[in-house]
This record gives sequence, structure tokens and C-alpha cells, in this order.
Amino acid sequence: MKVTVNNPPAGGDLAKISAECLVCGVWQGDFKNLAAGVDEIVDGAISRFLKKNEKFGKLYDAANFSVSPKKHKSLEKVVLFGLGKKEKLEPLYLRQFAAAVGKVYAKEAKSLALYLPKEAKVGERADLVVIGFSAGVFDPGHRKSEVENGKLKMESLEILTEEDLKKVKDGAEKGLIVSVTVDKVREVVNLPANIVTPEQMVKFAKKIAADKKLKIEVFSEKQVNEMGMGIMASVAKGSEEDLYFVVLRYLGGGSAGKTLALVGKGITFDSGGISIKPSESMEWMKMDMAGAAACLGAMEVIAKLKPKINVVCAVPLTENLPSGKASKPGDVVKGFSGKTVEIVNTDAEGRLVLADALSYVQDKFKPDFIVDVATLTGASIVALGNWASAILGRPQNFIGEVIKTGEDAGERFWQLPLYEEYRDQLKSYIADIANISSVRGGGTETGAKFLEEFVGGKVAWAHLDIAPNAWEENERSYASRGASGIPLLTLVNLALKLAREN
Ligand SMILES: [Zn+2]
Repeated sequence: MKVTVNNPPAGGDLAKISAECLVCGVWQGDFKNLAAGVDEIVDGAISRFLKKNEKFGKLYDAANFSVSPKKHKSLEKVVLFGLGKKEKLEPLYLRQFAAAVGKVYAKEAKSLALYLPKEAKVGERADLVVIGFSAGVFDPGHRKSEVENGKLKMESLEILTEEDLKKVKDGAEKGLIVSVTVDKVREVVNLPANIVTPEQMVKFAKKIAADKKLKIEVFSEKQVNEMGMGIMASVAKGSEEDLYFVVLRYLGGGSAGKTLALVGKGITFDSGGISIKPSESMEWMKMDMAGAAACLGAMEVIAKLKPKINVVCAVPLTENLPSGKASKPGDVVKGFSGKTVEIVNTDAEGRLVLADALSYVQDKFKPDFIVDVATLTGASIVALGNWASAILGRPQNFIGEVIKTGEDAGERFWQLPLYEEYRDQLKSYIADIANISSVRGGGTETGAKFLEEFVGGKVAWAHLDIAPNAWEENERSYASRGASGIPLLTLVNLALKLAREN
């Protein structure tokens, strides 16, 4: 996709616009800031429409007006697209507004000009406009022998804004870099487990490392066992596919610089293992590597944007399947840290692979900050629906910083507690800790509490349970079904922010 940035044509002279479609962002019930010239080009149809529809402009509302070829050489239509109430347009809604615009016109027009009124603050948020638009254009309909509802046409976006063009251009450029990677991440998460095996994820990681000159280490299942990561290795025992543990490093901070560690859950298919899941919706479990994919994607973007900080990314990649060799409920395994775990439920496997990955990155790289990203618990969806991911960790100022970074990126995180009482629910009579709570309730909290057991005392640590947001179960006006690419932008922006602070 090509993105350009311009001021709206002076004096409403729309002749300079070369796009096929002009979309004007409109505030709900407030039409004063309409781009000049648009009403004339449709012979007053817009003012007639707005007179009859005074409440028009709710978020994602759209009204189309055809442009006669006599009036303009390229424009086929002018569209009013609702931005909602001015005071309610937080970054999330601007990103989703742009996505809805992209989604509606992806197959209709080759080029689109988007006018955004001043109060939309595009100067600070141009990246979100591009990331949203590009996400809306993204077509997940691959692997069909015939393309449904026509082919993707959209090739270029022109942002029309009264804000400082240099600022908007810089933001748009960053947005474009992020979008290219988000597309790749969504693609790999959408693809099924017969295509995206652990080995294919290694190829995905290697490609990112080769293109961007990141250091990469790939440990085989045999090596993982030899290194003493028995908790991680236990998850792979039932699968015919080998487990891999991949570590990528970006060294932007120098030897004295701070280090951020990203640890992503990469279960390429989760059947639950011997504690097998019900078959309903099990096909979605191809997305249980969304955390790893987002972390790897973040590394690609970080390597392009070059913040002055060191970032290490560790992703355990395996399937979780039942077989005669699979881990059994009640098995006790020992990890890299020396701690033992009783596997009470083999479906709580994400925390098992993450436990050893967390121990390993702390031992080898002594990070100052750790963010782990995982589709860890169904309980987080019970708690939050699809409208926020869960965040747990410490210290509180770091958690606050991640939440704020997410808010500014249009990605929501809602904090849940890590009370000591949750640790009591994980007591095992035979090992140091059980991998699942002995009583009902608090599933997301006990999942995080289990991980905390493998996080050292000093390091700032945030656990992102992205089960609510990694996957869109339903088609929405601003999103297709399937992988969302969340929380890639939060991870990237956090690295940029920490680099500025240190
Ligand atoms: Zn599971």
C-alpha cells in the first residue's frame, strides 16, 4: 500500500484529488467541519441529506454520494463516514474507524483519499490511521479456490489533514512499517496447524532475523531437554512434530543499555493433550501461537525502527497433542530453574512452556523488563469478553506504563490482581507447584501466579493474557474474522518508550 499525506485542497478545489473515492470523517451531529467543496461536487446532495439526518455521524455510520464524471476526472464517490462524538474519539476508535473505512472500500476502489477534521488529532495518531486502514483492507479469504465478493483493489491511501504535514508523514511512515508486519502476523496466525507447524514458525522467525540482521538461536527438542528445560519439553511429548525454542536478539542499547525481554506462547495447535478439549471450537486452537507471532513481529518492527534498547525475544514452539507418549495428568517435571511442577491438567500447557522460557531469558540475558504474551486462559474471556486483554504483574508503575502504552496504541489491557491467596490455590502435595488451581475461579490470576513463580524478584514483569483479543470470533464492521495482530503495536511502542526513558 502506498500512503501520501496532504493538506485538503485549498478553497475546496477538489480537482487536485486523484483518488477514486473521497471519505470525509464526520462528527456525530456536528457538520461544521466538513471538507470544503464536497457538497458542490455532488450538487448539494450532502447538505440535503444532513438536513434530514441530524443525528448522522455515529461511529462507523456511512453515507455514499455518487460523483458524475462531468464533475470530476477521478472521483466516483464522496462518502461521509461517522467518527462518533468528538470527545469520545480515543485512539482505539480512531484506529477502528480507519479500519472500517478500509474494510468497506478495499474491493471497491483502487485509491482512497481520507479527510480527517482537526479534532481527530491526526498529528499525534497518523500511525493509527494507517495501521487501522491497512488492517481493514487485509483480506483473510485466502485458501479458497474462488475469491468471494471480488478481488482486493485498494492500492493507495491519501490522508488529507490540516495538521503539521511533517508530523503526520512521520507517523504514517511508521504506521506503514507496522502494517506490513501486522499483515504477516495475522496471516501466520490465521493459517491452520497443518501448514504452520513449529518448524514453519522457526522459518518465520529465521526470515525475520535474516532480513533485519537480528541474532537468532534455535534450540531443538533434544537441546531443550539437555539444557534442563523439562517443563517446556513435557508439552511436546505427545506430538510427532519436534519442539523448538527460538531466541532472537536486537542489540540497540549497547552493553550498558537496558534490556526488554518479550516471551511469547507458541502452541501451533492446542488440543489440550490428554486433558483433551471438547471438539466444539477446537479448530480455533490453531491460533494458540498468536503471542509468539506478535512477539516475533514486534522484533521485525523494532529492528526497522532501531530504538536504543536491547530486546530479546524468546518463543517456545510446539503442539499440544494426546498420544501414547504424551504427558499424563499427575506427571511431575523439573524445569530450568530447578523447580518441579505437577501437571494436574495437560491443557494448562501455555504456562508450562513459558515457565522455562522465562527462567532461561532471566538467566542468560538479565533483562530489566519482561513482557510475556499468551493466549493463556479462557477465564480472561469470561472476565473481560472481547473488549480488553488481561494484564497482571509488577511493579505497579510498570503495569501502568504498559496499560497507557496500550491505550495510546488502541489496544486495551485491564489489570487483574496477583493476590498471594491465588498461590495457595496452586499447592501440590508432591511438587513445588501445580499447573492448575485446585478450586474453581480466578483462572487468569492463577495462570499468572504460576508464571510469577518463574520470574525473579527484581525484574519488572507484565503478563499479557491476550485470549480475549488475539482472535475475532465474529465479523465486525472494522475487522474480519480471525487473527487481530494484537498486541504487536503495544510491544513496539513500549520498546520505543523504554528506549527514550533510559
Ligand atoms: Zn491449552
